[in-house]
Amino acid sequence: MRILLVEDEARIAAEVAEALKGAGYVVDLVADGETAWFQGDTEEYDAVVLDLGLPGMDGLSVLKRWRENERRFPILILSARGTWSERVAGIDAGADEYLPKPFHMEELLARLRAIIRRSTGQVQTVLAIGPLSLDPRQMRVTRDGQALNLSPQEYRLLSYLMHHAGRVVTQIELTEHLYAQDFERDSNAIEVLIGRVRRKLGLDIIKTRRGFGYIIPGSAE
Ligand code: CA
Repeated sequence: MRILLVEDEARIAAEVAEALKGAGYVVDLVADGETAWFQGDTEEYDAVVLDLGLPGMDGLSVLKRWRENERRFPILILSARGTWSERVAGIDAGADEYLPKPFHMEELLARLRAIIRRSTGQVQTVLAIGPLSLDPRQMRVTRDGQALNLSPQEYRLLSYLMHHAGRVVTQIELTEHLYAQDFERDSNAIEVLIGRVRRKLGLDIIKTRRGFGYIIPGSAE
């Protein structure tokens, strides 16, 4: 899962970025409105954490322009402007969540998990498919109740496929959602990663659709 973090206060940006990385996300960090708008308009994200008071274009305008352009990623507003009318303006402009500063990092992470869950059509906090279960709160994956030892990148791959279970996910989509923007992208990397995760799972649950991509069948299939 890949997050766009838009925050111009360096200390908060660093703290949130670190917490997000610790929770298994890859993070692109930007500190001004114009860059944020462009980045969100041209790159793929699983969620955006957006500060409102930004240099250049303000956060609310960035948000409105994304939504006008049909950008659908879930958005969590993070802002010192905590009055009720500003919360209403943010939600009405298309935000999914609003967290006033100061906030507890655990609450930010919980709300982020929730908006990602909702945006992918999941209702359970622990994703379960067959003998496999994935708990985003602890980045923990078990098979038949036994914990599996996955690297952060392997975890991200499995988490993305499980959140989108029942849908074919292309290699390009996986590349977009598993790597930060500054990462050197290698066309073989996804195939190699899929192979490693399959071996660790010891299950034939990630199916290849030749010419299309990969799919974990939904639990109902
Ligand atoms: Ca700010």
